[in-house]
Amino acid sequence: MDIILASKNQDKIKEISRILEGININLKNCNDVVIPEVEETGSTFIENAILKARSASNATGLPSIADDSGIEVDYLLGRPGVLSARYSGINATNQSNNEKLLAELDGVEFNDRKACYRCVIVYMRFPDDPFPVITSGTWEGYIASEPKGKNGFGYDPIFYLPDYKKTSAEITVNEKNKISHRAIALNKLQEIFKEMSIE
Ligand code: IMP
Repeated sequence: MDIILASKNQDKIKEISRILEGININLKNCNDVVIPEVEETGSTFIENAILKARSASNATGLPSIADDSGIEVDYLLGRPGVLSARYSGINATNQSNNEKLLAELDGVEFNDRKACYRCVIVYMRFPDDPFPVITSGTWEGYIASEPKGKNGFGYDPIFYLPDYKKTSAEITVNEKNKISHRAIALNKLQEIFKEMSIE
């Protein structure tokens, strides 16, 4: 079964394709077929994931899977949240986003630097699917005082995991893909796929 992955983010494409490797679907992505750019106008991860899934399904005629994700920092009352990708402005890079977050938490002590990654996954059978499958995952950690590690992407170099005493950019890709917010949400999707006889 062909499914389009509604993302232009190559890091997400790699992670999601790897996590879903074991199931019997042919996951196509924007490197195989053209999918449109989507303006993320929603104020929730769920709304934005639906916008992306609907658009990709519309453009390709295929069922689609979309990921909308981000990081919420307690001290910043949940910011950057849905704005994580564009936190430092329209020309944001991973580095400028990390720098902005570190500057905002300058002088804040470790215990007050709690944060969590959120991931919402949406599966739509067709563009006007009135009953999308929606799953989610959360991964808790702390914002480190400086970036460390080269794996992962986005905020990984500053997302500190006390159990590992490492950032999520210092653990291996395989480790991340077992425990991350994205892995949790996609594992739930796989369970639902089994019920739908997609496996
Ligand atoms: P969006 O879902 O395309 O709006 O963007 C999600 C943004 O959240 C990414 O660009 C990253 O900045 C951040 N993010 C989401 N998941 C992760 C992750 O696993 N590691 C690091 N950053 C992440």
